[in-house]
Amino acid sequence: MNLAHLLQRKALEHPQRPALFSGTQPVATHAQWARRAARVGARLRAAGLQPGDRVVIFMRNHPRYLELLFGAWWAGLVVVPVNAKLHLREVQWIVDNAQARRAFVTSDIVPDPAVFTGLDGVIDADAAECDAWVNEGEGLDRVEDRDPGDTAWLFYTSGTTGRPKGVMITHRNLLTMGLGYFNDVDHVDPGDAIAYAAPMSHGAGLYAIPHLMAGARHVVPASGGFEAAELFDLGRALGPLSLFAAPTIVKRIVDEAQAQGLTPDQCGQSFKTIVYGGAPMYAADIRRALRTMGSRFVQIYGQGESPMTGTALSRAHLAETGHPRHEERIASVGVAQTPVRIRVAGPDGRSLPPGEVGEVLIRGDSVMAGYWRNPEATAAAIRDGWLWTGDMGALDADGFLTLKDRSKDLIISGGSNIYPREVEEVLLHAPGVAEVAVVGAPDPEWGEVVVAFVVPQPGAAPDAKALDAFCLDQIARFKRPKRYEFVGSLPKNNYGKVLKTALRERVA
Ligand code: AMP
Repeated sequence: MNLAHLLQRKALEHPQRPALFSGTQPVATHAQWARRAARVGARLRAAGLQPGDRVVIFMRNHPRYLELLFGAWWAGLVVVPVNAKLHLREVQWIVDNAQARRAFVTSDIVPDPAVFTGLDGVIDADAAECDAWVNEGEGLDRVEDRDPGDTAWLFYTSGTTGRPKGVMITHRNLLTMGLGYFNDVDHVDPGDAIAYAAPMSHGAGLYAIPHLMAGARHVVPASGGFEAAELFDLGRALGPLSLFAAPTIVKRIVDEAQAQGLTPDQCGQSFKTIVYGGAPMYAADIRRALRTMGSRFVQIYGQGESPMTGTALSRAHLAETGHPRHEERIASVGVAQTPVRIRVAGPDGRSLPPGEVGEVLIRGDSVMAGYWRNPEATAAAIRDGWLWTGDMGALDADGFLTLKDRSKDLIISGGSNIYPREVEEVLLHAPGVAEVAVVGAPDPEWGEVVVAFVVPQPGAAPDAKALDAFCLDQIARFKRPKRYEFVGSLPKNNYGKVLKTALRERVA
């Protein structure tokens, strides 16, 4: 099987249905999309690329993204998606590591395609040459057969520590993720529309797969990125949108709903489903989101190594306010998604009883084939068929997983484990606090001490003494920060994840 077969099938089934949109403008039907992908495939093959060769896509969000992605798959090639915000030097490192042969770029991020070495060619998606690739010439009439275990998507980890690793995601992995979406995340109708507001090089782009399976519309906002007001307008124009968003983006959408004074029903004109994940969503934030926008949220937890497929906290779970454990549940990441099993294990690999914190392990058909040309890292990550995620968490008796922190974020102070997230949850409720990140700083006496970076709310000036009293009131004394740093903003990576490594360096 090849994921491009999904597109070929839709083109036969619903050739005239509009499929790709740039803002409110339709740019391709399913038949046109498939024809363009087949032509891109033919061009790549004519350029000498063989099935299994790597093609980099280093583009801002663009409707052509999906034509090129499926074009490369059509020819049996492996796509290397690269985040548009990476430094050109980081991209060159990925090009070399992946031994890529071609790249598709956009001129806003690569003004001079000659900057890259080692590639046979670079195509600018904004240039006339790319128009010719998609619109002229014969396409490959046959989708190249692939083994389900062949790599489709060579995704480089965000590398908050060390060099990124190439995660080999197969056709089977993505098919599994796509089918799982319908059972665990959302029902999709052909009239639905998915908007790409988060980078298409990441999980947001992969949600093209279930939406293609269902014959829905794919919408790239005209701004090419995330503008809250634009999304509200786009949804009103095209019909309610579904999208994937990191918690920071969800917050801005909710702020916009409040700024526009919208009721939950009015929000429903713009949004069908907002899937959130990728970083912790604090309980207070999701509660505000539900209150403001209604029951249109679903949480997922996954990682590049098992894309979008770990656990899900469904709309129904979030709505069940009368449940005796509702408070714990909305702070959890939900239950295992259908295609996978989840367990929490100690360092020896043995499962821990409910409530105990250990490393989260995932097993199933969504789990990567391994790291590209890195057997040591693969052997460390996949043991006896289980993916060791590096995330710490605990399962409850009903199978709800609550994440604590990445194992490396854990603070050990005076021999006691402190999970930063627990302290952050408390501080977020303190008056005048907008955002907070807690890290450990080396300390000669305690090993580590807790340091909190606090972003005050506009116009507020919370002070360390008041925050300390607030913590003393709610958590064990040894967990409370010994030091507060007030900052204008927190360092975040391109996906909105707080860079705790950078904060740790600052306090070291
Ligand atoms: P990435 O591989 O870049 O997608 O990052 C995956 C990591 O993001 C996971 O290993 C978790 O640490 C974190 N993550 C993903 N989803 C969630 C979620 N729903 N809540 C908290 N953290 C998450």
